[in-house]
Amino acid sequence: MSWLYPSVENRCCTSALGDANPPAAPLSRLEEASAGLAVVNLLGLDRDGLTRFFADLGEKPFRASQALKWIHQQGAVDFDDMSNLSKTLRRRLSECAEITGPKIVLTQRSVDGTHKWLLQLACGNRVETVFIPEEGRGTLCVSSQVGCALNCSFCSTARQGFNRNLSVAEIIGQLWMAKRALGEKTPITNVVLMGMGEPLLNFDNVVAAMKLMMDDFAYGLSKRRVTLSTAGMVPAIDRLARIADVSLAVSLHATDDAVRNELVPINRKYPIDELLQACKRYVADARRKVTFEYVMLDGINDSPAQAKALARLLSGVPSKVNLIPFNPFPGAPYRCSSTTAIDRFQEILQRAGLVATRRKTRGDDIDAACGQLVGRVQTRTRRPNTTDVHA
Ligand code: SF4
Repeated sequence: MSWLYPSVENRCCTSALGDANPPAAPLSRLEEASAGLAVVNLLGLDRDGLTRFFADLGEKPFRASQALKWIHQQGAVDFDDMSNLSKTLRRRLSECAEITGPKIVLTQRSVDGTHKWLLQLACGNRVETVFIPEEGRGTLCVSSQVGCALNCSFCSTARQGFNRNLSVAEIIGQLWMAKRALGEKTPITNVVLMGMGEPLLNFDNVVAAMKLMMDDFAYGLSKRRVTLSTAGMVPAIDRLARIADVSLAVSLHATDDAVRNELVPINRKYPIDELLQACKRYVADARRKVTFEYVMLDGINDSPAQAKALARLLSGVPSKVNLIPFNPFPGAPYRCSSTTAIDRFQEILQRAGLVATRRKTRGDDIDAACGQLVGRVQTRTRRPNTTDVHA
């Protein structure tokens, strides 16, 4: 991405995110900043973007590494704290740049340690971010869009429609915020792009944010610990395979096109067979495995015959299956499968040689299913908003 003309940053307004419409005779963002037109939010610049930013200030490339460390590892928001930068550079930065993350509107903490934050973004949009601690790991679930256009029938966010893509700063800002809020004693070891929105429909911004997640001078997560979850945008899966080496999760949820068309309507455009071919291509050269997410819906997709069909479908795909007990939300048209049905489904998959895990229900005492918190606050305040999430 170029920080001069940042096509990957979505623009909702000229704001703290540093976004401004390019003029007819384009000014660089630094020139804009100098003219008092915009301030660059350094949170949204990856290594390449920061290198170009500092080059325009007449600074050496190593300043990018210094800035990455201060912003993402130290959580700095004040340039005066950046003690290895000269006073002159710090003063210059305070004139043309800023470090602005999302604002926490509400925090919920479950007795099981799950944290959920409702975040306020520029232009008044709100999204959710969830942290799930487990033995030896801590996973942050990050949103990529405000709302979602894909209209999956089991998803609470889908009901609220699509509003806009998140910028790089707004995506990485969720990790930046969570790291600061949780502190050193609660490390974030894994990130999943599995919150509100379809990440592959916000491709460039999501890829730039994932690069920051994996940059050793920022969060230093390995590619196995950064997972992108998609409802099945086939061309974008192929594009992702070419440019980013991260783990892939696919919201499958059905074993035949008739059922999947109802649950995941994008299936009408990219049916199961095409989706699985794309998954095979994704793992072909890179010793990857695809995780198939399968939400357990009573009487819809949870029969023994469907378990056997799933085992047959995935027989040629290096993969594992994650069974997700449905977390109902008000007005949901589905019920969660019984424990017996889930046990039986899992057993059939395992007997067929598949790795099949079952997601533990977390945050039962808070609004843990994605979209619930925004929906609840929205109802209470009667303010327009959007929500959602992958199961
Ligand atoms: S499940 Fe994911 S892709 Fe489907 S509507 Fe919800 S957020 Fe969008």
